[in-house]
Amino acid sequence: MAIRPIRVVPDPVLRQKAKRVTTIDGSIHHLVDDMIETMRAVSGVGLAATQVGVPLRVAVIEIPGEDVITIINPEVIERQGECIITEACLSVPGYQGELKRSVFVKVKAKDRYGKVFRVRGEELLAQALEHEIDHLDGVLYVDRLESPEKLWKLVLKAGEEED
Ligand code: ZN
Repeated sequence: MAIRPIRVVPDPVLRQKAKRVTTIDGSIHHLVDDMIETMRAVSGVGLAATQVGVPLRVAVIEIPGEDVITIINPEVIERQGECIITEACLSVPGYQGELKRSVFVKVKAKDRYGKVFRVRGEELLAQALEHEIDHLDGVLYVDRLESPEKLWKLVLKAGEEED
């Protein structure tokens, strides 16, 4: 496994619509393993393949204290409710914004072995599923802000430098 560099805006790969995975082979397993390692290295809750420069419909999610979820060719099949939440993204460093997400989502996807499964998520998991699936469509959370003022630059702590 290896940590892959995370692409940040305005990298054009983040705006690509990722392609469906047709064959889940060793290269996909390798990608998934690297994505999990990369996500953990930055204490992320989720990571989409486009964020490591691979335009394929693959994402990983790890809610603290829960098992990691790998979703390949995911599709949202049900959404319920709406809530306003604060969100950030590893590909948009130094910012956070306020937007609307579903309270509950149901997603159908393949796991790393090619088996179709459904995952139901509420709250943080619902938000992560929507956020990562958006990435696979080239959509970033900043596209979903209610208004441009709903984006804030995070204040750097003393001693930290902006790069
Ligand atoms: Zn993101």
